[in-house]
Amino acid sequence: MSDFDDPSYILHHLGEEALPMNAVSPPIFQTSIFCFGSFDEFHDALAAEENHYLYTRGNNPTVRLAEQKIAALEKAEKAKLVSSGVSAISAAIMAFVRSGDHVVCIKDCYSWTRTLLVDYLHKFKVEHTFVDGVSAADFEAAVRPNTRVIYLESPTTLTFKLQDIEAIATMAHRHGIKVVIDSTWATPIFLNPITLGVDLVVHSASKYMGGHSDLVAGVIAGSAADIDHIFRTEFQQLGTVPDPMMAWLILRGLRTLAVRMPVHYQSALHVARYLEQHPAVESVLYPFLPSHPQYDLAVRQMRGGSGLFSFRLKTRDVGKVRTFVDALRMFKRAVSWGGYESLVYPDAVHYTGPIPEDRISLVRLHIGLEDKDVIVRDLDNALSLIK
Ligand SMILES: *Cc1c(COP(=O)(O)O)cnc(C)c1O
Repeated sequence: MSDFDDPSYILHHLGEEALPMNAVSPPIFQTSIFCFGSFDEFHDALAAEENHYLYTRGNNPTVRLAEQKIAALEKAEKAKLVSSGVSAISAAIMAFVRSGDHVVCIKDCYSWTRTLLVDYLHKFKVEHTFVDGVSAADFEAAVRPNTRVIYLESPTTLTFKLQDIEAIATMAHRHGIKVVIDSTWATPIFLNPITLGVDLVVHSASKYMGGHSDLVAGVIAGSAADIDHIFRTEFQQLGTVPDPMMAWLILRGLRTLAVRMPVHYQSALHVARYLEQHPAVESVLYPFLPSHPQYDLAVRQMRGGSGLFSFRLKTRDVGKVRTFVDALRMFKRAVSWGGYESLVYPDAVHYTGPIPEDRISLVRLHIGLEDKDVIVRDLDNALSLIK
C-alpha cells in the first residue's frame, strides 16, 4: 500500500491540491446552477451530466470532493453522496431490479431496508427472501433464477451477526448476482468490502462519517459503471440530492475519522469486557469479544470494530430495564449513533403492545469519545440499582 492510499493522505490532501485562493478549507459551492462559456461546452455537459457540473441536483464541487475521498477510502472507482442512508440503500437496490426479480437479504437488516423489500418493492412485484446468513450456504440455498441482488449488513442491526463477505460474493458472482452491503458499522477505516468482491457499498454518513450527530446523509460506492447507472436512474429521478453544506460538514467530519474510530473501538471493547463479567448481564454481542460466536471471522475480515454493540440483561422485568436506562448519566437516550457521544437504546422502548420475551432485556449502547473509565463507572452505578 502506498502512502497515497492511506487515510492520512486521502482525508487531509486528496482533491485539495488547487483550492481557490489557496484556501486550506474547501469552499462551499452554494450554487444551484453552473454556467458555460459556449454552446459546445453546454452541449457536452448535457450529454454526460454524470461527469460535469451542470445543476446541483446532479453534481456539485463540494459534494464531489466528499465523494472523491469516500471512494478512495472504500477503494472504489466512484461514490455518490445522497440525502440519507436510507436513500443510499433504496437507490442501490432499486437501480438493479425490475418487476419479477428477486432479492436475497440478511434477516436482521436495518428496519427501513426491511420495509423497502416487504412493503415498497412488493408493490412493484419484486420478490425477496430473508436469510439468517451465518453461513454462505444460507444465501446460495435462497438463490433463484430471477435473483438479481444479494443484500448484506455485517454485523446485523441489534443482533451483531456477521456474514462471510468474500465467500458470499464469490458464490453470487458465479450466479451473475450483484452484492450490496451496508457497511455503516465498520466504516472504511476497518473494512473495505470491495476488496472482498462486493459490488456496491452503502453507508449512512449520518453516523461515523459525519461523526457529530449534526447531519443526515448517505453514500454509495462502487464501480464507475454502476455508480453512473445509479446516477442516471434512481438518483436523478428520485432527486435524493445532497446539499453542499451537508457535504462540507461531512468533509469536516472525515478529517478526524481515522482518529476517532480506534478510540470508539478500544472504548467499546473495554466496556464490553466490563459488561461481560457483570452478574446482572446475561450476554454481550460485540464481534471483537472472543466469546462472540464469529470472533474468528471478525478478526479475519475487519481491522477493528466500532463503538456500537448490544447486550442482554438477565432480568425480564421491563421496570428494571427502565430503572437502569433512566439512571445513566453519561449516555443520552436516543436513536441513531456514530457521533462523539454515548447513547443508549433499549429495544423495549419501541413496542406499543406486548414486548417479546427475548427483546425486553436487549439494550444497545453506542460508546462515544468520553473517557472509558467514566463510562464504566456510570454503567456500574446504573446496574447496581437493578440487582
Ligand atoms: C442509521 C442507519 C441507516 C439509515 O441511515 P439514515 O442516514 O438514518 O437514513 C442504515 N443502515 C444502518 C446500519 C444504520 O444504522
